[in-house]
Amino acid sequence: MADALKERVTRLTGSLVEWRRTLHRQPELGFEEHETARFVAQRLQALDLPVRTGVAKTGVVAVLKAKAATAAPILLRADMDALPIEEVESRPYGSAVPGRMHACGHDGHMAMLLGAATVLAAERERLPRDVVFCFQPGEEGFGGAEAMIREGVLDEHGVAEAYGLHLWSPFPVGTIQVRPGPTMAAQDEFEATLRGHGGHGALPHRAIDPIVAAASAILSLQTVVARSVDPVQPAVVTVGALHAGTAANVIPDTATMNGTLRSFEPGVRETLRRRVKEILDGVAQASGCTLEYELHEGYPAVVNDPSAVERVRRHAAAVVGEGNVVEPDPTAAAEDFAYFLERVPGAFAFIGAGNAATGITAAHHSPRFDIDEAALPIGTELLVRIALG
Ligand SMILES: [Zn+2]
Ligand SMILES: [Zn+2]
Repeated sequence: MADALKERVTRLTGSLVEWRRTLHRQPELGFEEHETARFVAQRLQALDLPVRTGVAKTGVVAVLKAKAATAAPILLRADMDALPIEEVESRPYGSAVPGRMHACGHDGHMAMLLGAATVLAAERERLPRDVVFCFQPGEEGFGGAEAMIREGVLDEHGVAEAYGLHLWSPFPVGTIQVRPGPTMAAQDEFEATLRGHGGHGALPHRAIDPIVAAASAILSLQTVVARSVDPVQPAVVTVGALHAGTAANVIPDTATMNGTLRSFEPGVRETLRRRVKEILDGVAQASGCTLEYELHEGYPAVVNDPSAVERVRRHAAAVVGEGNVVEPDPTAAAEDFAYFLERVPGAFAFIGAGNAATGITAAHHSPRFDIDEAALPIGTELLVRIALG
């Protein structure tokens, strides 16, 4: 039986590659995935599944009802959005839209979930539970997962567990990587403007210089992780943008900085938020500047349920062999699948998609990003086994 399943998925490989390439050619940004949604919905309708479109704007949901359910429904999720990146490599399946690119592998995620729906629709007789196929818009910073949950994708179908996959180019193709507990980071962003008093660069004593204050603040912010966070807890404070001034001999009125905070534990997240604000307040006061501060709350941490991870591991071993099921370190990247895992237990796993031998090594969000398409049947088979197991 198990091998028959593998064979079914293998036979589907040509379609998986074709779907992924079609989607790769027509990338659309978050909440603008209209053509993408149409493509996905057509394929799901062809399987005779009831399909709902326009969920959270451009999301698509299909439900496969088990003939005789003995377990609670699960949700399988793929994200749909591309990035505002110009693809640099000329590939036969390269992006046909200038300035847009599937540079995170979400095209492959959709292909794998369509593949799983195709196989599972034919396995309805022995399917032990209803399966909700969730094609989610706007993962890249738009919080599409949260919007889908608000529109009832979990509650409406009584979803008891949720699973998601990410093709991952830093991991070699042929591996599946999953870990229990905190897996991807919580993320918050801040914008801080120090407002001083501009003047002549030669007469600093008559001005309040926000550039010196910002420089001092940025260095002090590095003490948050070094001095305020437990050294065995991972955390990041990065100031990624700093804007101030126009000329060498002019002290400007303002300096604005933008930063990102990453953490895995709620307590650490709280410490980062509090200490960053305290330091900026302190520097502002000491320098005579005023502070305008805004915190933009980002995604929570992706926290995998240990027993769901055990289940993924067991099925992953059937797909790639036990030796190729790996427990990765947590990554400080963020993922809005976290919102599903805040509501129901489940797991988020990485499907190795890199291949050093064939030069597929570019990072996610790079204009050279690509995947080894041999990863597609691996992810598909894993989704199928999770639903059937
Ligand atoms: Zn991404
Ligand atoms: Zn992604």
